[in-house]
Amino acid sequence: MERKKAVLITGASRGIGAACARRFAEAGCRVGLNYHRSEEAARALAEELRAAGGEVELFPADVGDTGQVAHMVDNVLDKFCQLDILVCNAGIARQQLFTDITDRDWREIFNINVDGTFRCCRAVLPHFIHRKAGRIITLSSMWGVTGGSCEVAYSAAKAAVIGLTKALAKEVGPSGITVNCVAPGVIDTDMNAALTPEDLEVLRQETPLERIGRPEDVAECVCFLASEGAGFLTGQVLSPNGGILI
Ligand code: NAP
Repeated sequence: MERKKAVLITGASRGIGAACARRFAEAGCRVGLNYHRSEEAARALAEELRAAGGEVELFPADVGDTGQVAHMVDNVLDKFCQLDILVCNAGIARQQLFTDITDRDWREIFNINVDGTFRCCRAVLPHFIHRKAGRIITLSSMWGVTGGSCEVAYSAAKAAVIGLTKALAKEVGPSGITVNCVAPGVIDTDMNAALTPEDLEVLRQETPLERIGRPEDVAECVCFLASEGAGFLTGQVLSPNGGILI
């Protein structure tokens, strides 16, 4: 019998990460759910997936902390013995005027979005390189491609994630590892909770497909990039955005 693939998803307690967890579980993978603060939500999701027959483990860790990330990956390898797919999804955003951004704000946005991705990739790569196989999917944003007003730190961080993805894809391609990025448009999650219904309506009207994205739209792309069918894709940026950025 073919061994089930194992995936670790960071920031899987809510939003896009939780949708990815559901999608990978549906595809028959063993799913490692990382969370930081939302323990209750992560436990509820794990229960939901187990009730549906899924094999799920919880791995609490702050991706902003090198030691916690290393410990998390050790635990994942202990539990699953092997890891096939890493989804670097954990992220934070903040809307503020550029001139209001403090050094601390800037560092925090970079520490979670960029350094967190760096730490997770670095921690799993010895295992992937040893096996000469592995899939890494990073999460950027359309703002990392086009730049968002009042989101300069976030846009710069998400642009850095794209740079990391492309360079790492070149470096580890010869080891049989693919590294690709998903850069979503506006997706209906807690991250956009500050947007008013009027803001959302304007964004909807600006979107050729005339709707706001769902976490499942992103999860589908992530799952595709981890699939056998995406075996010849690396260093690419896939943007589920309804056409708002073409
Ligand atoms: P969300 O609903 O705000 O969820 C964020 C997730 O990241 C939560 O599970 C949270 O875990 C986790 N997280 C935050 N800080 C963490 C840390 N230090 N360590 C570990 N986990 C941490 O956000 P989302 O909309 O699902 O976004 C997911 C990813 O997609 C992010 O990288 C985001 O930048 C990107 N994205 C989102 C959109 C959008 O419109 N929503 C668009 C483009 C890109 P806890 O709650 O457990 O702390």
